[in-house]
Amino acid sequence: MSIARQFNIEDKRLAVPATMLAAVYRRPGEVCMETVPVPRISAGELLVRVHTCGICGTDLKKIATGSHSAPRVFGHETSGVVAAVGEGGHEFNPGDRVVVFHHVPCGECYYCRHKTFARCETYKKVGCTAGFEPSGGGFAEYVRVMDWIVRRGTVRIPDQVSFEQACFVEPVNTCMKGIQRLHIEPGETVLVVGQGPIGILLSVLAKRGGAKVITSDLYQQRLTISRGFGLDNNIDASRSDVITAVRQRTEGRGVDAAILAVGGNALIQKAVDSVRPGGRVLLFAQTVRGEAVIDPAAICMDEKTLLGSYSASVELQDESVRFVMNREMDLERLISHRFPLTDSVEALNLAAHPQPDSMKIVIQPGSMWEGSTE
Ligand SMILES: [Zn+2]
Ligand SMILES: [Zn+2]
Repeated sequence: MSIARQFNIEDKRLAVPATMLAAVYRRPGEVCMETVPVPRISAGELLVRVHTCGICGTDLKKIATGSHSAPRVFGHETSGVVAAVGEGGHEFNPGDRVVVFHHVPCGECYYCRHKTFARCETYKKVGCTAGFEPSGGGFAEYVRVMDWIVRRGTVRIPDQVSFEQACFVEPVNTCMKGIQRLHIEPGETVLVVGQGPIGILLSVLAKRGGAKVITSDLYQQRLTISRGFGLDNNIDASRSDVITAVRQRTEGRGVDAAILAVGGNALIQKAVDSVRPGGRVLLFAQTVRGEAVIDPAAICMDEKTLLGSYSASVELQDESVRFVMNREMDLERLISHRFPLTDSVEALNLAAHPQPDSMKIVIQPGSMWEGSTE
């Protein structure tokens, strides 16, 4: 195929330039296109030429809030081609198509033993970088993948699977983890508030877990896309009151579980109100610390449970890879906008100010590759 020809895999010499283009986070709210050195790799490491990198809500949060020091190159939903390999210790070769997790937990510490992987010190150590403080690096032409990620967080992409489809492995994993935390029983009714790409993913996975799924969104465009994934029990929140509509569809009780897939705190109490007594609410997009008003009697007397889920689970890595690579869901259809790397600033701006028709937005250094077929 064209990639093999382009990289001249036979003699394993890949033309890696000395410098590359990267979208560098410089200060809160500011990302600049810069020419930076291509990262060097050591033994056991890989250099991956990035084809596609999804923009994640957490990238936008880090850029907007200044929660991390500058400079950095973000982007962690990265798929691409191995361009160079460090000596030994792994089975990858130049030309291999791969998707990389940017961090993996140790599996042994207190938090790993209690499955709160995001608190593991090893997990916090990001193992992919385009230079500067390791931060994913996918919004650049090349990323260095460090040895422990090569061993435990790098996955081959089968020939028939596109880079676009493959870059969803990490977001799918985070959604699977959220669904797992809800302990959905077959036949339960689940409301998913918000039908952006993550809301749709969560809905499809809840349905896959045996739930009857009700979706809601303020935008018709999103509900139309969501229906395209077989999610046809929906509520247009711009026209009807979601709580009333949910009760009408559940014999007045409310749903067994609700998932909040839109940010902010304004809808938390509404999500709590939408579930039946004894029901569960999963907060999936509430990543900004602050205060929220919640009726405590809904938790105490009505025995409702508030849950949260954040980041990926290493235990779901195989399942999320299978889901994506077996094309259980056509994830490419969740992508509404594709930007070349040169237009990363515009891409990030659009992602930070989503429009009714914007879904997943990806940055594609690979769109400029010679002979690129995707
Ligand atoms: Zn992400
Ligand atoms: Zn750990």
